[in-house]
Parts: sequence; structure tokens; C-alpha cells
Amino acid sequence: MRMDTKTQLGKLGLFDSKVPRYTSYPTAPHFTRDVGQDHFTSWIRAIPEGAEVSLYVHVPFCRRLCWFCACRTQGTQTDAPVIAYLQTLKTEIAMLGRSLPRGVRLSRLHWGGGTPTLLSPDLMTELAAAIRDIAPFTDATEFSVEIDPNEIDGARLDALARAGMNRASIGVQDFDEHIQKSIGRMQGYDITRWAVDEIRARGVKSLNADILYGLPHQNRARITESVQKLLSLSPDRVALYGYAHVPWMAKRQQMIPSDALPTPQERLDLFETARHLFLWDNYVEIGIDHFATKSDGLSVAQKSGHLRRNFQGYTDDTAEVLIGVGASSISRFPQGYAQNAPATGAHTGAIREGRFSTSRGHVFSAEDKLRARMIEMLMCDFRIDSAEIFREFEIPAAELQVMLSAVDRRFEGHLTLNATGLAIPLEARPLTRMIARHFDTYEMDEKGHSSAI
Ligand code: SF4
Repeated sequence: MRMDTKTQLGKLGLFDSKVPRYTSYPTAPHFTRDVGQDHFTSWIRAIPEGAEVSLYVHVPFCRRLCWFCACRTQGTQTDAPVIAYLQTLKTEIAMLGRSLPRGVRLSRLHWGGGTPTLLSPDLMTELAAAIRDIAPFTDATEFSVEIDPNEIDGARLDALARAGMNRASIGVQDFDEHIQKSIGRMQGYDITRWAVDEIRARGVKSLNADILYGLPHQNRARITESVQKLLSLSPDRVALYGYAHVPWMAKRQQMIPSDALPTPQERLDLFETARHLFLWDNYVEIGIDHFATKSDGLSVAQKSGHLRRNFQGYTDDTAEVLIGVGASSISRFPQGYAQNAPATGAHTGAIREGRFSTSRGHVFSAEDKLRARMIEMLMCDFRIDSAEIFREFEIPAAELQVMLSAVDRRFEGHLTLNATGLAIPLEARPLTRMIARHFDTYEMDEKGHSSAI
């Protein structure tokens, strides 16, 4: 990146801002207790018969708790809590099945966590069967599982393959041992390579990998080496996330030496270094932080204007409804968001009493829907297409123009504003989350969010 571009991005606040990642709008901190299980149940019942929905299943357990990770998960060395939790999941899924309209099928199924691969092969099989009982797969269903290479073996992979897994997701962070020690997660290249080979040997064609920039001790040479090692695994999709250092919220991060963290300017360099390596290797840049092979669904969706954003980042899923199962999971409906009780105890307690554990959420207003769509367009396509907005919403042209002009002025003419809408030019794309923030009308506590870069 040219020095003058960097200076300009700095002047516009890139290196001082903390902004949401906008995987939802409004963002989760704005959910309230006004939404409970009555909303959840009525929204489930309002799904049209025969519709395709997506399902996210959360497994909030890990064998060890990595310091860098801000996921809501608990460490366990025994299987008892996992077995008990699986019973809860099966009961919850059966309850869901009794509320779902007839003929509902699955568009996407994702098992995340935590570490879903902590489940024994038998538990995996039981969970998959419980899900298929209430919502069968279609020929095009994508079933993805987050796989921890340290917590997987042949028997578990066999069980997942039998259950229909056709997409696997692996967290890499960085392959450098020094960096791995400093973030409390050891995962060598060899074990990762082994997991990838074993996954592919079972016919799973699609592989996602996550890698982080902004880690302690990371520099250009180290991230270059890590990206090259990652590329040798030929992932179909890569998420290049910025490490969010928020030790006041994620206590484990206090173990991470904050004086070894790169500055915001260095974070931009690290991102750009990795980004160029993916582009040189013919990956397509997807939104603000993903890369995909040309034939991957994300690339196809981006090209055809169908790329969407949800809690898992970018998706080509077109289902209107995403149902979250398990503690802390969030569901999205056309009417709003509903989140399950975050603590496994409270979640299990509710399910045992025969009720869903929905404890927070948000009912969309008409304005939320408009702003959510504009933010999604920016995050996915780097532009707000006025014609598309007029097709989807009843908004006077003058009102939309006022909104777009105000944001254009804030960014001192570095955006492109004309009759077709507002666009973010290539050199200003690192500002995308900040630009999206200007369409967000909710108060924001910066402490809860990560660096804009
Ligand atoms: S990175 Fe994975 S294994 Fe480590 S604490 Fe987070 S969810 Fe658990």
C-alpha cells in the first residue's frame, strides 16, 4: 500500500477507531430482554411450510482454553458434561421439530463452538440423526463442521462423513511456534496437514480455514510464511480475521503480552501482506476479510450479487431463517433476532422445563431493516446500490440521498457518490466498517469492539 494512502487512511481515523464487525444489525450488545421464548416460538411457527432454513448448533466445550479466543466456551477434561449437554441438544431439537411447520428442510447446517469434534463418534451420529428427524437435507444442503486438528481422529471423521459433512472448517491462527506459544494454542503444521488430508480422503471437497493477523510477535516475514503454509493446504475459502485484543472482556487474553502486539499501522501491513499472497495465488477477495477460489460458492455469489453476511461471516446461503440451537446461539428471522441463554446451566434448565431458553433479542423496526440492508451491501459489495434499495424499501429518493451525502461528507470525498448510489473505491476499503458505522443509529461503547483494522 502506498505511503500517502496509508497517511490518508490514518487521517480518516482508521488507526484510532473501534467499530463492530457487523455480522448482524443491530449488533448483539443491543439485544434486550424484551424478546423471549414467545417471540421465538411465534417466529418459528411463521416459517412457511416447505421452506428451507439453516441451522447452527453450538457446542460450548473445549479440552483447553486458548488464550486468544474470546468464544463463549468452557474447558472440560471429562466427557460427562458433554454427554449431558448432548442430551439437552437432542431434547431442544425435538422441541423445535414440534414447533416447525411441515416440510421444512435444511439449506445449511453448521456445527460450531467451542469444539464440536469433542463429541464421540456415537454422539455425533445421534446429533445428526436428531437433526435429520426434524428437517431433512436437500440435494444441495451444505453441512459444515468446525474441526480442531488437535481433537479429531479417524473414527470421528468417519462419523462426520457418514452424517453427511461436506464442508470442513479449520482454525489455523498462525503456524509460527513462537506466536502459537504467546497466544496459548499449539497446533503444528504437520497435525493440520494430517487433518486436512484425512478430511479430503473422506470425500469432503470443501475446506475453510481461518487465519489471524495482528497477533503478538507477528511480522511480515512470519505472516508470509504462515500464509504460504496455509496455501500449501489448498483451502477453498480463507477468513483472514484481525485478532481482537479485548482482555477486559475476554479474561484469558490477559495472558497475552500486550507489548508484543503490532500497532494499528502494522496490523494494516500484516493484512495487506497476507491479502496480496492470496491474490497472487488467484484467490478472489470476498468482502472485507475473506478469500475464495474462483469456483467456490462465495465467489459465485459475490459475482452474481447474492453474497450475504451472517453471524458466521460471509455466506451464499439464501435461507431467510437461521435457527441457533444450544447455549448462547442466536437465531435470525425476518422479524428479528432471538438469543438463547448464554450459560449452559440456564439453557439446560429451560429445556428440561420444556421451554426454549430465549433470553434476549431484538424485534426489527422498518428502519432497522433498511439500515441492516445498507450495511450488508457495504460489507459485501462495497457499495450501496440506490436502485436496489428502492426495489426493497419504500424510501423517498431525497431521503436516501441525504443519508448517503452525509456519509460521503464525513469521508471527505474519498467515496464515490452519484445517482446510482455510494461506492467505496479500492484504496478506501480498509475503512468499510467505519463507513458502515455511519449507517448505524445505535449508541456504541467502543470498549466492546475491536480495532477498525
Ligand atoms: S480456539 Fe477453539 S479450542 Fe481454543 S478456546 Fe477457542 S473454541 Fe476452544
